[in-house]
Amino acid sequence: MTQIDISNNEAWFVTGSQHLYGQETLDQVADHSREIAEALNGSDLIPVKIRFIPTLITPEAILNLCLEANNNVHCIGIIAWMHTFSPAKMWINGLKVLQKPMVHFHTQFNRDIPWSEIDMDFMNLNQSAHGGREFGHICSRMNIKRKVVVGHWKEENVIKRIGTWSRAASGWNDLQGARFARLGDNMRQVAVTEGDKVEAEMKLGFSVNGYGIGDLVEVVNEVTEKEIDQLVQVYMDCYEVVPELQQTGNKYSSLREAARIELGMRSFLEQGDFKGFTDTFEDLYGLSQLPGIAVQRLMADGYGFGAEGDWKTSALLRAMKVMTAGLEDGCSFMEDYTYHFHPDGHKVLGAHMLEICESIASGKPSCEIHPLSIGGKADPVRLVFDVDPGEAINVSLVDTGSRFRLLLNEVVTVKPEQPLPKLPVARVLWEPKPNLDIAATAWILAGGAHHTCYTKSLSTECIEDFAEIAGIELLKIDDQTSIGQIKNEINWNQAYYQLK
Ligand code: MN
Repeated sequence: MTQIDISNNEAWFVTGSQHLYGQETLDQVADHSREIAEALNGSDLIPVKIRFIPTLITPEAILNLCLEANNNVHCIGIIAWMHTFSPAKMWINGLKVLQKPMVHFHTQFNRDIPWSEIDMDFMNLNQSAHGGREFGHICSRMNIKRKVVVGHWKEENVIKRIGTWSRAASGWNDLQGARFARLGDNMRQVAVTEGDKVEAEMKLGFSVNGYGIGDLVEVVNEVTEKEIDQLVQVYMDCYEVVPELQQTGNKYSSLREAARIELGMRSFLEQGDFKGFTDTFEDLYGLSQLPGIAVQRLMADGYGFGAEGDWKTSALLRAMKVMTAGLEDGCSFMEDYTYHFHPDGHKVLGAHMLEICESIASGKPSCEIHPLSIGGKADPVRLVFDVDPGEAINVSLVDTGSRFRLLLNEVVTVKPEQPLPKLPVARVLWEPKPNLDIAATAWILAGGAHHTCYTKSLSTECIEDFAEIAGIELLKIDDQTSIGQIKNEINWNQAYYQLK
């Protein structure tokens, strides 16, 4: 669980109507929409506040509401409901300026048709069935990106879909104006971790700027012995620390050094008001170890991270950290590391050199030290753990050169078939859907990165909502995927985005 709190975010519940119905009906509309807003606000399935907005019945009120939503930092988006028929030309000027995400909630106050009682008063009040279509028409005509949720407002599955959208919208809101620090540059010669940072800021709202490792080292060197004592105690309390890293062990000084690096990184990130960062093992000048436990713990606190200069994954991880706020299972930087091609079942072992977030750990991680065998630095301290079985997703953000593409693979996390006593890093074993052969073929055809963000806490729908809000492509690889279809999608999408 991260330290990110989205409970003060607000989704504004907006009801559309018009003058024609008369005061009596409008009063009922107001009562009903207040009741729905309160019910949504009280639901555990929605992690943000639902703010009730009085019924909108004029173009001026709609425009003002949209302007207000744009300027309100707590507002992550609007939930629009047409209780009655709200002639949609009234919405044009508002929708033209609206910059916040929107969900069109196509619900009706009454669940059932009251067969024996229904009269024209009832018909005139419960008009979502056609009022919502009028609203949908203008949104489509104006090419307004939104999520449409259909169903009765008391149904759990319906509320859940709004909750999912509110998580995606919170992730998006958090990225707007977010700052990411790139410590050092890219791992030399690597393609997929590069990309257009200017375009990212224009399209996705966050900025990435480079910092010399010396800037970080300066802060690391300011850390006091007393601060290190305290953090080392936290390590001792939270993890199974191996004997050589204990006070009496021969690598105790390495643990203290790891703590110094964590404290320095933390203060560097706080001073710069950063939401995430990258580093690279090829540029550690002045740091004795590649940050391992430091990065693992910073991710657990909600920072985005990408290794080898991978700023896109860092930003995506941060957004997904926000989306998973308050949920049980966490979210981590991940890499498809090695395959298990056994005829009984093809699997992927996910891991990294060090930097897997402890928020996905099963049980208490073990704190260990081993050589890195790359980069020529001192042995880094790291947390080692397994991950519990369960449904998960891997998500990747790539720069195709002309646009950004999100790629998602649904996977099933499984238990390692046997213990892995010699593997000195945190690891996850999964079976991709529909199977490794199709999933990896599709991923490779789509140009997906080897770095991803892994989580058991989010559904595919949440990433779909996020892609919709961001206005970028999402290619999904799930149990329905076939190679023929994904090839078509890639080709069709290429044509579509070029026309756009
Ligand atoms: Mn990597």
